[in-house]
Amino acid sequence: MSKTILVTGSTGYVGTWVVKYLLEDGYHVRITVRDKSKSEKYAFIQKIANDAAGEIEVFEADLLKAGSYNDAASGCDAIIHLASPFTLRFKDPVKELIVPALQGTKNVLAAATASPTVKKVVLTSSVVSVYGDNIDMQEKGLQELSEDDFNESSTETHQPYSYSKVKAELAAWDIAKQQSQWELVVINPAFVMGPPLTTNTNSESIQFMKDILRGKFITGAPYLEIAFVDVRDAARAHILALKKEDAEGRYIIAERVIDFMSFTQLIKSQYPGKYPLPLMKTPKFMLYLVGWAFGLTTKYISRNVGYHFKINNSKSKQDLKLVYSPFEATIKDMIEAMKNLNLIKS
Ligand code: NDP
Repeated sequence: MSKTILVTGSTGYVGTWVVKYLLEDGYHVRITVRDKSKSEKYAFIQKIANDAAGEIEVFEADLLKAGSYNDAASGCDAIIHLASPFTLRFKDPVKELIVPALQGTKNVLAAATASPTVKKVVLTSSVVSVYGDNIDMQEKGLQELSEDDFNESSTETHQPYSYSKVKAELAAWDIAKQQSQWELVVINPAFVMGPPLTTNTNSESIQFMKDILRGKFITGAPYLEIAFVDVRDAARAHILALKKEDAEGRYIIAERVIDFMSFTQLIKSQYPGKYPLPLMKTPKFMLYLVGWAFGLTTKYISRNVGYHFKINNSKSKQDLKLVYSPFEATIKDMIEAMKNLNLIKS
């Protein structure tokens, strides 16, 4: 009999790829949605299931409601917990980011413990649970960042999304230690790019690409280094962590670190003259004056712009045997998919 896997966040940008790969591998996949009556939010997953070896079952669940994942988890072999808000456009970071991330993780792990059949939980954390600001590596006296590192610089007011991820991951490790029924494996993806399968997402990954292609940064881009990975590789890492019995601990999933301007140059080289991309680098002193217009605080600029950092992805290659897609293809596939889904103009 095929194994039954609960995937939370299955309707989102990364989650849909995880569900697609599980279905192609023949798994019985339980997906969760906040409102089952809004079938337009998950009809496309049903379509993927129709053409795949596996099948789906739809459950209603909300990160904020205690006990709401219990039915969906009951009888499952494993859980992949992806659901968590990923937005940098918020009014109340505690309510919109930190509470759902932390409370949601506690609720999902309680559901795992309540179902004796669950033997493994794969949790989607982030590289922002490894570091908060680009200066962190230097401040800690490290040559590179690895799975040994945890973000200690983010707070409720400074980088609250990153804070939500590290709080949730640390809580998960604490809960995992208190029981022996299931094993926890954590995936720490870099900033995910690549083709969306759905328009049903507020993921910052899609918003970021939309902003760039619509010319938000035409007047200039900061020297800001970012770690990136393809959405398909991030999704595959979850499947490999699920399947490999010896997968353990945390896995940084990152293809490369590049700066913002070089990222836009990769777009330019594939679509010359097509999009209003940044014309120059914005000097750091200038950013202190205009950063507020882009939602950047003085503290963010001072601790992130102009700093180099390195991130070690070797554990994912050695243990999970993950083969990374070249980032040039990631960008092209993302733009083409966004055009096809009318997320951007053709
Ligand atoms: P999306 O916004 O596309 O997906 C988020 C998912 O979480 C959606 O399915 C959403 O459901 C669900 N969700 C949000 N709030 C709740 C809630 N209160 N109750 C139940 N479900 C909820 O984001 P991504 O796919 O980009 O992110 C998925 C995961 O990957 C997150 O944990 C994120 O932190 C992590 N991650 C993402 C990276 C990226 O660059 N995209 C990088 C590293 C980690 P609904 O459809 O109902 O809104």
